[in-house]
Amino acid sequence: MFLYDFHVHLHGVLSAHDLWLLGKDRFRQRTPALTWYASEYLKSWGRLPDFLSYWQSPGGEAALSYDFLIQEAVSFRQFQACFNLIIALLPISQHDFSAQSLSIQRAAAAGLIYFEARSLIPASFSKGEAFSYLHNLASLVTQLNREQAMQTSLVFMLDRRAEFRDRHYRWLRDFCTAQPLLAQVISGIDFAGWEEPFSPESAQQFMEQAQRDNASGHYLDLLYHVGESFSTIGLASSLRWIFTVQKMGVSRLGHALSLGFNPERLRGKTLWEDEEEYHSQQRWLRTQASLLADYGYRPLAAQQRLGLRPGKVQLTYNDEVIEDICRLQAALASYLRDQGTVIECCPTSNRYLGGIAGDADHPLRFFVRHQLKVVLGSDDPGIFASSWAEQSAYATRLASNHGCAATAQELWHQRLTRGFGSGSA
Ligand SMILES: [Zn+2]
Repeated sequence: MFLYDFHVHLHGVLSAHDLWLLGKDRFRQRTPALTWYASEYLKSWGRLPDFLSYWQSPGGEAALSYDFLIQEAVSFRQFQACFNLIIALLPISQHDFSAQSLSIQRAAAAGLIYFEARSLIPASFSKGEAFSYLHNLASLVTQLNREQAMQTSLVFMLDRRAEFRDRHYRWLRDFCTAQPLLAQVISGIDFAGWEEPFSPESAQQFMEQAQRDNASGHYLDLLYHVGESFSTIGLASSLRWIFTVQKMGVSRLGHALSLGFNPERLRGKTLWEDEEEYHSQQRWLRTQASLLADYGYRPLAAQQRLGLRPGKVQLTYNDEVIEDICRLQAALASYLRDQGTVIECCPTSNRYLGGIAGDADHPLRFFVRHQLKVVLGSDDPGIFASSWAEQSAYATRLASNHGCAATAQELWHQRLTRGFGSGSA
């Protein structure tokens, strides 16, 4: 059983039934947002969901489930279109914590020991509203940690856009300084959501500052969803992104899917990568040449073609490119193993969103084969209609002798030594 969930989105725990129940009294006030959900859904899925029927027709709950649940391989864009129903129906507010409370209680009822839940500060919030949200959510978690055997920590996801990232990070730091007891349930920051085109090089200075802040103030794990999406950048570039994030001193990598992705799945496909991205990749290969060579990697001849489209470079996944990526993946995996890097792997989420053909291609198999440290996460168990027990069974089937449990226990003990704020908050 996977008892420690190191990667879960608080609202992603909500099931189709939860949304239907919570939506019954809310959908009328949320019509403009639900109209936005429907129009976004149409763009990704090619059909318009009839959201009013969810609560106004006899088979409404089934219709909601049909539109919301993901039970097959889909694109990240399609996943986001389904998740938008949660955003439209249950926007983060300073006062209504029914969704968060339900999610935490559901995880506790499933027998989890540790639940590391992601939330965020909405872009529309003022500093006062953000403080109020942080205060009320941290109070709820502190209260539930006292009442339940399961302990919850909060991780705040920052926007990848510098403007929002810097503002929300500063508010979070200010809150932790002003409310040290409540802050004990706040364990980290993360970057999530649309990954491309936000190359991690653009977060370098920010991460250096966060490291300095950690040395003198409340300690926050620096977490980063990376390598989850590579539709506009090449798979090799995505590997550089993983390397870059690891070098920035993060505590864990979220997903790192491209590291374990089988490049054979892209055979014959062509991609137009931004020239700037291409040059960053070439620069990286030159500056890291000796380290990569130590891990057995030497680049094959240039495989990309410049100048066919303005500002773009053509990349075709042919024999040579696939061979090159396989060797780069192996070298990077060995390097990360030597560094003791921990990867948060979400077995079910990867299966549906990872573009993998079958269990043999699952990145968890790759991570285990390369003896990488892995902890498990359920990501969005509600939308995947997959309980922790099911995800646990799936992870065991993928990697029967994996070291995930040992790594999870190690991290759990580290978390315990930092405390959970069981004092009077
Ligand atoms: Zn995630």
